[in-house]
Amino acid sequence: MKYIQENLAIVRERVAEAVKKAGRDSQSVKLIAVSKTFPAEAVQSAYDVEQRLFGENKVQDLALKNAALAKDIEWHMIGHLQSNKVKLAVENADYIHAVDSVKLLQRIDRLAGELGRSPKVFLEINISGEKSKFGADTELVRELAQAATQCENISVAGLMTMAPFGVPEDELRFVFSSLRKLRDNLQTEFNLDLPELSMGMSGDFEIAIEEGATMIRVGTSIFGKR
Ligand SMILES: *Cc1c(COP(=O)(O)O)cnc(C)c1O
Repeated sequence: MKYIQENLAIVRERVAEAVKKAGRDSQSVKLIAVSKTFPAEAVQSAYDVEQRLFGENKVQDLALKNAALAKDIEWHMIGHLQSNKVKLAVENADYIHAVDSVKLLQRIDRLAGELGRSPKVFLEINISGEKSKFGADTELVRELAQAATQCENISVAGLMTMAPFGVPEDELRFVFSSLRKLRDNLQTEFNLDLPELSMGMSGDFEIAIEEGATMIRVGTSIFGKR
């Protein structure tokens, strides 16, 4: 699947340019290749050109690909997680990006202890307030941050958001910079270390990088239309 490798080279070039434009360190942004709905062979093509971070939004698919592919892949569960799938996620994922309830956070923490695993998690925030979206509002996020300080087996890496589709650039900037400011405030208020900001997708990752993203989740630009 040569086109995947070519697309990946283009995305890497665009990431490098955005990082440079933002005056940031080239190591400060990690690219998660979102392989959801694509077969394991597609992941393998990207793997063959040094891609190691992959994202899936269904935990069953993530588990199947994890079993089939190389052990040095870092798996990111980026989709909404139902409580009956938490065990499978904890067993297979290195990162869980969409934690948006205290119950879910505590369940992940408990199962991580039982299974001897230590996935890193992101708190998902719904910055734009869209009703159709998952994610905590700014009030719930304080409860989540408080709960994060009590976790014994997992650590919260940072915050994650999805920007609304088809909105102007200034609105995207507002969403991404709001997530960064919220992160800064939570770190101070709850004495948490939240180094990571998971934000930016195919349509908006350059803007996310300019606004401080440390992990971008890119699917379509690498693997093609779903
Ligand atoms: C599918 C998905 C992405 C990637 O979206 P693209 O527009 O294909 O780059 C990123 N984040 C989440 C949570 C997703 O579900």
